[in-house]
Amino acid sequence: MARKIGSRYTAHRILGRGSAGTVWLGDGPEGPVAIKLLREDLASDQDLVERFVQERSALLCLDHPRVVGVRDLVVDGNELALVMDLVRGTDLRTRLERDRRLAPAAAVAVAADVADALAAAHAAGLVHRDVKPENVLLDALALEGPGGAPPALLTDFGVAKLIDSPSRTRATSIIGTPDYLAPEIVEGLPPRAAVDIYALATVVYELLAGFTPFGGGHPGAVLRRHVTETVAPLPGIPDELWQLVHQCLAKAPASRLRAAELAARLRELLPALEGLPPLDIDEQGDEFGEYGEYGEYGEPDEYGGDDAYSDRSPGADRAGGAGGAARDRRADPGVVAAAGGGAVPLVHSRVGPDANRDTHTSMRVPGEDELAGGAHGTARTPRAAGEARAGSARHRTAVRRRRLKIGAVAALAAVALAVGGWLATAEEDTGSLRAPASGYSTE
Ligand code: ADP
Ligand code: MG
Repeated sequence: MARKIGSRYTAHRILGRGSAGTVWLGDGPEGPVAIKLLREDLASDQDLVERFVQERSALLCLDHPRVVGVRDLVVDGNELALVMDLVRGTDLRTRLERDRRLAPAAAVAVAADVADALAAAHAAGLVHRDVKPENVLLDALALEGPGGAPPALLTDFGVAKLIDSPSRTRATSIIGTPDYLAPEIVEGLPPRAAVDIYALATVVYELLAGFTPFGGGHPGAVLRRHVTETVAPLPGIPDELWQLVHQCLAKAPASRLRAAELAARLRELLPALEGLPPLDIDEQGDEFGEYGEYGEYGEPDEYGGDDAYSDRSPGADRAGGAGGAARDRRADPGVVAAAGGGAVPLVHSRVGPDANRDTHTSMRVPGEDELAGGAHGTARTPRAAGEARAGSARHRTAVRRRRLKIGAVAALAAVALAVGGWLATAEEDTGSLRAPASGYSTE
């Protein structure tokens, strides 16, 4: 049903939904447009209105072919709408859900476009802060590029913020989407341009693997992994591509590439990647019952079954440090269970299955003790399809012996409790459209 937006625009049908509102296909004096309408029940929320206004001013500064252009901001009574160029096509999330994994050339071509957009934004002093597949639009009307990927445009600068005004955001709050959050944000540092590079590297990994390197389970567990766990190479990934992804997933922001260089390096790789099929990666869900049944920390074999657990040290790259790459997103992320003697749910959250991919506006920065939980045996090395499984029946005898070690069980329970305690707070904020965006408040 058509609805009027201000005096100049008409919204016709919903194109997509984001964290702050709904995007409509509409038209205006100059033809078709996309109209992002802030949810009516939120339009009275000063923080969110401010976020909207900021998105517009950030975008108005940016005129770049790889950035979705903003044309207008309409305030009409209780309604607030952002009028944007219409991108005909889908967002990258939809494409990923359809194809599961992209061919390396397609993934790299999309990432190079996003890196171009980020280079322009960073040069203008803007950090995007919410780079993820939902915020990348694929232009279906343009000619397809390498690997069959349409040109990509970056949208949703709703959480972008001027680099030189760090005081706007409280140091104790986090804005962003857990799966893509750089470790320095989790540790409470102000977000600089390098957080976008980390998020983009996470997206590249996800496009290639079908899952993010540190995702899965409760948002709090995801945040901790960004700080404590490392990633292992994806099976079959061309070495030079892995070097780029790995470098941009560095824990230290200064070690990551800058956007313009990343774009150039990605494009250099394209000729060699052309024609390669998507990586053949064995996905989760077929062993140990996975998280859907037991919760992230709950399955005893899960806890003890990772040989890498006992000898893993944070910061060391090794095969076992894949950062829980193979986690089942369909599992209930709200169940965090204690180990030793079956699943004991400690926290039941209201968050939905995809909450780790929703933009969060007021997560709390975890304390040092909460982050010090270290890397649990939740990590799985991504395996090429058909490869022998770590933690298969052969491993289980040893696993059971280890499981009896009371000290280890007690340590895990303590960590679970600590995480649970923190999450009880964080959970209040997750996936919450009604959240008053405390993370964005001004001081
Ligand atoms: P939010 O800021 O609320 O997260 P987004 O900007 O990410 O909203 O938009 C949500 C969804 O709406 C996107 O994933 C996409 O499907 C669709 N969308 C957003 N902007 C446009 C646009 N300019 N043209 C076409 N579709 C769009
Ligand atoms: Mg969005």
